[in-house]
Amino acid sequence: MISKIIAEELIHKVQKEIDKVDKIVIVVHVGPDGDAMGSALGLWHYLMTIEKEPVVIVPTAFPDFYKWMPGSECVMVYEDAKEASDEIFGNAELIFALDFNVPKRLEKMEQAVLNSKAPKILIDHHLHPGDFAQIAVSYPEIASTSELIFRLICRMGDFAKINLACAECIYTGMMTDTGGFTYNSNKFEIYIIISELIKLGVDKDDIYSKVFNTYSADRMRLMGYSLYKKMKIYPEYKAALITLTADELKEFNYKNGDSEGLVNMPLSIDGIIFSVFMREETDKIKISLRSQGTFPANKVSADLFNGGGHLNAAGGESYNSLKETQKKFEDALEDYKDFL
Ligand code: 5GP
Ligand code: MN
Repeated sequence: MISKIIAEELIHKVQKEIDKVDKIVIVVHVGPDGDAMGSALGLWHYLMTIEKEPVVIVPTAFPDFYKWMPGSECVMVYEDAKEASDEIFGNAELIFALDFNVPKRLEKMEQAVLNSKAPKILIDHHLHPGDFAQIAVSYPEIASTSELIFRLICRMGDFAKINLACAECIYTGMMTDTGGFTYNSNKFEIYIIISELIKLGVDKDDIYSKVFNTYSADRMRLMGYSLYKKMKIYPEYKAALITLTADELKEFNYKNGDSEGLVNMPLSIDGIIFSVFMREETDKIKISLRSQGTFPANKVSADLFNGGGHLNAAGGESYNSLKETQKKFEDALEDYKDFL
């Protein structure tokens, strides 16, 4: 048995909402990662087995290396199917908001979700949940939203309704949000859950391979280029920075997800505990931050880049040029020396 993390009252409330309706929409943050996809599809499979009509709508495309996930073929991408999605939001009776804390993280899909009359249920593990949802299942101490989905289904008494497809999706989110169980993964209950998922038939080695060992040659070369030519080290601040311009990304035929994991790599260098990656997009600079130990990546992101996240994994954005954004970061490093 695993402990009862989610409050009993919340379980009842969620159950009651699900029982009342048929048309359920599941949404996740922009640039969906493994946990966003895993929690959304895990919940989708569960809702299918209890004969609801769930639809997953993601704001922007998800990486190819999640396309093997069962049910991913049914996922709608808002930016590619705005009209159809708006109609679904219009008819929705219940919206699950997964793996993000504030509606801003939906970017261009934010208004469609906020304008919908459907009640909203937030299920998430980021700090500082917003108050846009009627029910908030927010547990930042839990390593992944996918783990929360598993806990929720079990607590609703439906462990038996978790089929293999559902289990595979949940496992994927648990795996990716912990870097393959290399960080944020010391809670023993994670492994109790995993053993249950394996009993259901999950092939964890195969999932690892499908997610982490399916690079394109272009992606591998982009990684090599970034580390060789673009990684700057600031030894006195135990920090590293990688920047990539839009032109550089184009040179390597950049596709969604191609830079995933890149920000973690400098942390493998002895003495580096803070790593930042800046990627130039059409309208902004997207920033990813990672740290080790008690160095607060989320604080740096909130202070400098209008962002947030977890202590060791955060993100943000900048509307200045890449050069200016880099300078802002470099000028600020001294301010965080006390955290080293
Ligand atoms: P990533 O670097 O993988 O995009 O994001 C790392 C973590 O930071 C994730 O937990 C993500 O939810 C959070 N995050 C990423 N981008 C943003 C952002 O723009 N704002 C906030 N508040 N959090 C972000
Ligand atoms: Mn997550």
